[in-house]
Amino acid sequence: MSKARAFGLLPSELAALGVPAPEASFTRLHRPWLWQSGAPLVSGGARSVLESLGLALPRVVEKLASNDGSHKLLLELGGDRIEAVHMPRSVGGGRVTLCISSQVGCAMGCGFCATASMGFHRQLSAGEIVAQVLAVVAELGPRQPSQLTLVFMGMGEPLHNLPEVARAIRVLCSVQGLGLSSRRITVSTSGLVPEIDELGALEPRPLLAISLNATTDEVRQELMPIGRRYSLTLLRAALQRFPLRPRERITVEYVLLRGINDSLLDAVRLADFCSPFPHNINLIPFNEHALSSYQASPEGSVDAFARGILERRPTLVTVRRSRGRDVQAACGQLVQS
Ligand code: SAH
Ligand code: SF4
Repeated sequence: MSKARAFGLLPSELAALGVPAPEASFTRLHRPWLWQSGAPLVSGGARSVLESLGLALPRVVEKLASNDGSHKLLLELGGDRIEAVHMPRSVGGGRVTLCISSQVGCAMGCGFCATASMGFHRQLSAGEIVAQVLAVVAELGPRQPSQLTLVFMGMGEPLHNLPEVARAIRVLCSVQGLGLSSRRITVSTSGLVPEIDELGALEPRPLLAISLNATTDEVRQELMPIGRRYSLTLLRAALQRFPLRPRERITVEYVLLRGINDSLLDAVRLADFCSPFPHNINLIPFNEHALSSYQASPEGSVDAFARGILERRPTLVTVRRSRGRDVQAACGQLVQS
């Protein structure tokens, strides 16, 4: 376990723990553009209390640059390794999407995902999740938090670690610190139904993405063991009752696997599954890797699948261009070696 507790505490909590000048200390911790030499600058009295709470930052062990402008960062914290992916929207542009991890490994065992093969090692604490964001931003920007979008789509199942993920979001959104907007944070889940309800009740509440990946219970159960616990009917009911703000949509992620879930009948069923709630559909070409024998759908089938959805219903469909593929940083390629 790494000692990063100070990064997961709000100003009022720092005050209760006896940190001098708690609000100013909080600001110094959470605004990486005020840091010096890769670490926050806090003064004497505050520093000693904060250090006793835990001020450990993840160490950047490796930084792999992809030829599309994104970076995969291998981070070490408390003896464990996790990964984060930093993706500028356009080369040289200011806006960045940062894909972060919520656990070391993952317990959900999805058959197509490289992270699953690691099994579950441990939860990340809120302090470690926040420190992960700060360390990457300190290293690679952006300098303005309004330019940052955060997605919990790295290693781990964030809803299997909801208390710490929720605390991290509260801290990251705090205006005295980084001040992220909760509308720029997306939590992606394999579909833990009770925790989807809990997420819906959070304040601040992030956006929701659901990794659906199948349109029948039979196929979903084969790909994602969580499907045995919650049927598609139960999952859809949770998505329907998820509280949305005006114009907000739930992102439905669908990884296309050749011959498994990519038929035109699947496209029709996917359109129907999503129709009761505001949504956008993200089709993800499967990234093949050595730990899985599934194959990617050919490009032509991906296009036909997208057209099949649109012929069934007018809706929003995007094919996600995978980032960082050449450095094994793309979806489902994150694994500690
Ligand atoms: N555990 C969460 C968040 C991390 S996974 C979840 O499953 O939603 C992020 C996304 O990557 C998921 O939508 C998952 O279905 C997808 N994914 C996993 N392995 C993949 C692979 N090899 N190729 C493409 N997408 C993959
Ligand atoms: Fe875990 Fe998500 Fe990978 Fe499934 S797809 S094993 S839930 S990280």
